[in-house]
Amino acid sequence: MSAVGTSGAVLEWLSHRQGEMLQLLEAAVNIDSGSADKAGTDRLGELFSSFLEGHGIATNRHRLERYGDCLSAEVPAASSANAGHILLLGHMDTVFPAGTASRRPFCIADGVARGPGVADMKAGLVMNAFVARAFAEVGGNTHPVRLFFTADEEVASPASRSLTIEMARGAKAVFNAEPGRPTGNVVTGRKGAFFINFEVHGVAAHSGVNPEKGASAIDALARKVVELHQVADLKVGISSNVGTIKGGMSVNTVADHAQAQLDVRFPGTVDREALRARILEIIERDSTPRTCACITHEGIFLPLDSSEDGNRLLEKYRVCAASLNMTVKGEYTGGSADSGLTASVGAPTLCATGPVGGDVHTDREWCRVETIVPRSQVLALTILDL
Ligand SMILES: [Zn+2]
Repeated sequence: MSAVGTSGAVLEWLSHRQGEMLQLLEAAVNIDSGSADKAGTDRLGELFSSFLEGHGIATNRHRLERYGDCLSAEVPAASSANAGHILLLGHMDTVFPAGTASRRPFCIADGVARGPGVADMKAGLVMNAFVARAFAEVGGNTHPVRLFFTADEEVASPASRSLTIEMARGAKAVFNAEPGRPTGNVVTGRKGAFFINFEVHGVAAHSGVNPEKGASAIDALARKVVELHQVADLKVGISSNVGTIKGGMSVNTVADHAQAQLDVRFPGTVDREALRARILEIIERDSTPRTCACITHEGIFLPLDSSEDGNRLLEKYRVCAASLNMTVKGEYTGGSADSGLTASVGAPTLCATGPVGGDVHTDREWCRVETIVPRSQVLALTILDL
């Protein structure tokens, strides 16, 4: 088949798949898969592996202990293989706890699909799976098309990080199927982030009888929060937010325990090791006598910086979108994602290629149904063009 014939056949194949895509999306959304819910994310992995295996695409399960297993699959190149594979990346975990899907299951009204994780990013996973299937059935891809699904992205990918890097190494292009922006744009730049949980320990005492015997963990934590917020420098793009705090036992006890969760975002231009050292110093310093603090969890997202390779990939994607009458641009966002990891090993990376959606991480999350097939077609066309 000629190149034009091939792309026509792949586009045609995808154009008939909206019903099947929505079926798979419904099944995926109705499986709870919060990052902490290994059983749930593993069930979702099984849904996708049985879908792919059922269509003749062999899958590989990468077993992990604490978080959900990762899933990979590869559709070999139809013709003599060119250097480098295409990586279609996505995460199966959501920010929602078990029970959310039964409380507000998948539904569609007025062309908008809803349900936990529908846009972030189960619609993107469905799109990736169908694009792989299109090449498995129609052929025409001159590069191997590899799928990789992780299950801990929402907590900064502690377990899947090295696997994602391995999957991206040597890739001709990486497409991360985070939701397309409400404008239809994709993402070419993202901030990096530190997610750090920490605890402060003090000494308990009766706050009326012998307060001098106590050392307040809450007092020490509060001082650290003020200092941690001062790390922010919006002029250079650094933000800092302690998003949760907990501590103490009763109103009349000097608190012997307190804990907090910190999220610091930074652009690629910032010296991140220096920034990290400053944060750790504030947390670990003994700010008040007889208290001590320790870090209980540390996650990092790498920033996605604009690069020449990334810009070239965007340009190809943009031209393919235009040929299907869609206008797409690249955007910068403060949100972080695994695309920073893949770009860090030099793989040209485009992010937010998934179907268009928004209000992610809330119960208002939505995904525009009519974008599912066209976004798959742009992705397929771009792959054929590489
Ligand atoms: Zn996401």
